[in-house]
Amino acid sequence: MLRDNYEVVIGLEVHAELSTKTKIFCSCPTEFGGEPNTHCCPICMALPGTLPVLNEKVVEYAVKAGLAMNCEIEKNSKNDRKNYFYPDLPKAYQISQYDRPLCKCGKITIDDGLGEQKVIRITRIHIEEDAGKLNHDDFGGGSLVDLNRAGVPLIEIVSEPDIRSSKEAENYLRKVKSILEYIEVSDCKMQEGSLRADVNVSVRKKGDTKLGTRTEMKNMNSFHSIVRGIEYEIDRQIDVLEAGGKVEQETLRWDDVSGRTFSMRDKEDAQDYRYFPDPDLVAIHLSDEYIENVKKTLPELPESRKVRYLDEYKLTEREAKLLTASKYLSDLFEQTVSKCGNPKAVCNWILSDISRILNEEEKEPNEIPFNSDELSELITLIDKGTISSAIAKKVLEELFKDPKAPSKIIEEKGWVQISDEGAIKEIVLEILANNPQSIQDYKGGKDRALGFLVGQAMKQSKGKANPQMLNKMFIEEMNKM
Ligand SMILES: [Zn+2]
Repeated sequence: MLRDNYEVVIGLEVHAELSTKTKIFCSCPTEFGGEPNTHCCPICMALPGTLPVLNEKVVEYAVKAGLAMNCEIEKNSKNDRKNYFYPDLPKAYQISQYDRPLCKCGKITIDDGLGEQKVIRITRIHIEEDAGKLNHDDFGGGSLVDLNRAGVPLIEIVSEPDIRSSKEAENYLRKVKSILEYIEVSDCKMQEGSLRADVNVSVRKKGDTKLGTRTEMKNMNSFHSIVRGIEYEIDRQIDVLEAGGKVEQETLRWDDVSGRTFSMRDKEDAQDYRYFPDPDLVAIHLSDEYIENVKKTLPELPESRKVRYLDEYKLTEREAKLLTASKYLSDLFEQTVSKCGNPKAVCNWILSDISRILNEEEKEPNEIPFNSDELSELITLIDKGTISSAIAKKVLEELFKDPKAPSKIIEEKGWVQISDEGAIKEIVLEILANNPQSIQDYKGGKDRALGFLVGQAMKQSKGKANPQMLNKMFIEEMNKM
């Protein structure tokens, strides 16, 4: 395959909106949505004479993210102006950080998709303000600007070009998201754009030491499009090179509908932005004590939670890894176990049926409509023998559609498990009467016949008969014959 002759080099710039209550340089709310231009003030609008004041919480959150990603914290940092004109940026410059970002030289460990752990280095994490949004009016032909998002605090997490495949890129982004969720500095809602990534892709002939020319896909906000976009770019760049051409350094837009990239503009270099320190803002000086105090607020991170799960809940390495990858699933697991015990069963439900439904419905864990009360009741009902696990799966489907107490769902649907000896016996005798061949097979030593009979009885009872009781009674009855 042509691809085998090439090496892929990927770097990600991840933008995460910080979940501070107010914006980075004024006291306007950061809340998503709202009528256009209602979450803004003269500072957001860049009216002459206004002065920005840095929100201390933004520094704290960025330092927290830096510490969680093993960065060095810059004690003498500052804000810089990045000059460019864009209609959703009324100042004509963005306040960002240039040569002294708050955090640098970090690293995180990811799964390379082939079963190995791999370290991805983090170049830097800096703070900056988000821009507003343009709403293009397809009918009237104009564009309207909404400044609600202008000034929402962002951290930009820049990786070294250590990523070698679309799978690694996906796993890297999942890990970054997971860490930010654990430390609660961003809600990471990709569909609302609070987590998005610019993806740099280049290819080079295997063995080459010089990096190939890279292209940058802007503002990717779903794992699915990032993987598709990278795969498309790899193929496109290899085709260009194989045809004797040259890859142009440019900024691209990925279009999910047509499944291809479009050129937006030539890529700017740093000098094009004419960075200089923002004279309206004071420098940021952090003491060792301040950094130490932020460190103390760091919660248990996925890695250490995973180790604890192996010991405390006796989960397997794989189970612990999958559960702790999402703070939401991991919290749901712990809360449910605290209510109903049975960690193994809770883990199985979350990793198999619940994850399957999330996948099918393309939902994120935080969109699960029920909580640990409902899940623990469901598991208790199975443990008590009130419902079979076949029925429990149906109850789970209902919980996703219309969350309420599982006992209520069972009652409404008439799904209570039949555990009455008389009723079970009746079913067993009927099935036996209709399947004389299976009785002979069983007596002849074919154990499969028993499974078949239980299956028939489950079918007849619409999944409601208690399978353990069926099993026992079939054996008893056949031994009598
Ligand atoms: Zn404002």
